[in-house]
Amino acid sequence: MSELIAAIATPPGPGGVGILRLSGPGAAQAAAHIFQPLGKTPLSEAPDRQLLYGRVFDQAGELLDTGLAFVSRAPHSYTGEETAEIQCHGSPVVLSLALDALCAAGARLARPGEFTQRAFLNGKLDLTQAEAVIDLIDAETPAAARQAAEQLNGALSRQIDGIYSALTDLMAHFCAVLDYPDEDIDPFQAEQMGQILARQEAALQALLATSRRGTLLHQGITCVLIGRPNAGKSSLLNALAGYERAIVTNIPGTTRDTVETKVTLGGYLFRLVDTAGLRDSDDPIEQLGVARSRQALAEADLVLAVCDGTQPLREEDHDLLRQALAQADTILLANKRDLPDFALPQPADNDAPNTLTVVSLSAKTGDGLDTLEATLAQRAETLLPQAAQSAAGELLTNQRQTQAAQRALDGVTRAKDALDLGMTPDALLTDVEAALEALGELTGRTVREDITARIFSRFCVGK
Ligand code: GDP
Repeated sequence: MSELIAAIATPPGPGGVGILRLSGPGAAQAAAHIFQPLGKTPLSEAPDRQLLYGRVFDQAGELLDTGLAFVSRAPHSYTGEETAEIQCHGSPVVLSLALDALCAAGARLARPGEFTQRAFLNGKLDLTQAEAVIDLIDAETPAAARQAAEQLNGALSRQIDGIYSALTDLMAHFCAVLDYPDEDIDPFQAEQMGQILARQEAALQALLATSRRGTLLHQGITCVLIGRPNAGKSSLLNALAGYERAIVTNIPGTTRDTVETKVTLGGYLFRLVDTAGLRDSDDPIEQLGVARSRQALAEADLVLAVCDGTQPLREEDHDLLRQALAQADTILLANKRDLPDFALPQPADNDAPNTLTVVSLSAKTGDGLDTLEATLAQRAETLLPQAAQSAAGELLTNQRQTQAAQRALDGVTRAKDALDLGMTPDALLTDVEAALEALGELTGRTVREDITARIFSRFCVGK
């Protein structure tokens, strides 16, 4: 039997409204202990989810606040248990005293994510939906929030369930065949099984193909700034971020490490990485920075190659451009447009000038940043094709999901290959079983307790 838990569900600090939450047996009674409705019906006898107006009292029975409260009985609640919520004014003192009073009435403090963990354990949500709750809370762009909302609504679960159910049917077939070991599996049946496996393989491949988009949507498009020292990379990063994140000086080689910041531009989330520069150096610290910069470049989804528009492109710039273009889609930024001797740079033939977009701007005055923002948003659209609309909710959004889906795919592929090679159904059973187990892990059907504990520990208290 689970214990009664209580938490403040609203963020710390003063606010318009503060919410206390309770879940578990006796939730309504404990809430009624500190909340007295103005009407005749006590909170513990109120109909499910009917808001009552009343007074909130502390442990000693002294008036704390006035507010609203409701109860919801099992299984018709978020957690699937009896729950109660009290909404008062968002005063940290009031909330904390009210929470003390709830604990005195028999509740204990909830652990991070414990409400959602209970919803999962009671079958109200599967694991991908529970993860969507965190993604929704943490979403940094409207597109990421929409994706999480659809996933919470079951879009991904439905897809996985379809594959799970097809594979379970197949297992039933295999087991039926196993009951008659002397009989050979007839070719027609083998062909049908092969088709089912091929369809699930394709479905899993399609699902795995979404993982990059899912990651880009939630973690941001990695945009790496490269360029000769003093081109204005740090100034640009600061201008885009709107605050001073990197140290800007006019001594070449100041940015010795990579500096990162997340910004939303044109509705997309970008992870901007300023690099130390990629030039060879004898200074060991600078060498370390250069190694990190190369690593950053290797992980780039997009490269912003910054050059000083008051100086002609040098061999070093062409070399950087070639390195960038070899790694990812690159935009050449001609900086310092505000200065009188500014001129648009001329990319060399082997810099792939036809495919290179050139944007001129001034990191100092902000002139041209709007064009850069529009260009970045356009690139983001190519990287995240219609993610916000067509496939909302059906993306794999984290490593745990991707790894489980990959294991499921491996199992299905092994089973399909074995069938093609004429192996008997019993030989295939283990592979299909492995795929089913991986899918079970994905939705939480068969997941290990330590894994779920890790997932829920990422939540905040009160969720
Ligand atoms: P980084 O080495 O590429 O990161 O270059 P910084 O951002 O540190 O800038 C080097 C110098 O150029 C600093 O003195 C900046 O103030 C200056 N600078 C950067 N962008 C501009 C710009 O758009 N116009 C002008 N006039 N100066 C700039």
